[in-house]
Amino acid sequence: GAAIGIVGGGQLGRMLASAAARLGFRTLVLDPDPTCPAAQLANELIRGAYDSREGLAELGRRTSVVTYEFENVPVEPLRALSRTCPVFPPVEALEVAQDRVVEKAFLNGIGIATAPWRAVDDAAELAHAHLDLGTDTILKTRRLGYDGKGQATIRRDALTDGAFESLGAVPAILEGRVPFEREISVIAARSRSGEVVAFDPAENRHGAGILRRSTVPATISAPVRAAAVETAGRILDRLGYVGVIGVEFFVADGERLLVNEIAPRVHNSGHWTEAACCVSQFEQHIRAVAGLPLGSGTRHSDCVMENLIGDEVRRAAALLAEPDVMLTLYGKAEARPGRKMGHWTRLLPLSRA
Ligand code: ATP
Ligand code: MG
Ligand code: MG
Repeated sequence: GAAIGIVGGGQLGRMLASAAARLGFRTLVLDPDPTCPAAQLANELIRGAYDSREGLAELGRRTSVVTYEFENVPVEPLRALSRTCPVFPPVEALEVAQDRVVEKAFLNGIGIATAPWRAVDDAAELAHAHLDLGTDTILKTRRLGYDGKGQATIRRDALTDGAFESLGAVPAILEGRVPFEREISVIAARSRSGEVVAFDPAENRHGAGILRRSTVPATISAPVRAAAVETAGRILDRLGYVGVIGVEFFVADGERLLVNEIAPRVHNSGHWTEAACCVSQFEQHIRAVAGLPLGSGTRHSDCVMENLIGDEVRRAAALLAEPDVMLTLYGKAEARPGRKMGHWTRLLPLSRA
């Protein structure tokens, strides 16, 4: 049968490999760590760095399409591969999502609102931008941040010396801190033929920068829900996207939507789809990149998904005893603090289709 290459062997790669297997595909995963979560479920692990030219070339030779589960894959080796083998989502989309300044400029350029922001490349620019924004702000590295790493909040009247250096003195973005009421996300997919399907928005709660809980449906009005889904669709179209994307939003003043960031991959706030939808985000992504028709995105239940972080994984046995709970563990041996070990979804009666 056909084979799919996946760059990155974390839990997202593991769940993609599982969905691919259900549709009859073989999977080859590229990861440097032979004990990575995807290694247990992929047909083959190709050992190598995510940007290893030999590793990527082998994926390209032995599979009919290559995708990735991880947004910090170096772009150039992947671009080189894309000349000989289909790579989805397109490398141009990955490039936009990897740099918070490029990402926000792209969004604003297609008429999508974000937090106010300034690019800051040194301490003097930071001081100027902080004054200019005039609110509490959040300083973030332009690249490589995830789970709230590489970020620092700066109070309106409390910019101190060393703030720029505290993030490693690397190119950064300063964002106005949005006094949001809630955070939501839309997980959506675009097929090779340009069809777009979205799941219902989830409402997300974070703790210490890490996603803790996603609730579906989100507590938002029908117009806000429709606007969020429309915005995700516009992003997909403008990127010529193929695959699943996660679009994170702030909802302020009841109805104002600002995009926080986009993730060019399956997304933690879409894990509930494996329990509450006929076709999960993982299967949807495999369908999209493999050129198959997309699933419907319809939900058969309301639900709440929670991550098991660090030693919370001890709750696993108790969760298994609960009815209407679907538990997924990532097969990680060591429960380090802040490490995502698994998640669970509680199904609830459908309130609204
Ligand atoms: P992820 O793991 O989602 O990729 P990340 O490290 O890229 O996370 P962000 O999504 O930018 O980080 O920020 C993490 C969280 O911090 C957000 O979900 C939100 O709760 C808060 N946050 C980030 N930027 C802002 C902002 N401009 N105003 C208010 N809160 C913010
Ligand atoms: Mg992010
Ligand atoms: Mg985020």
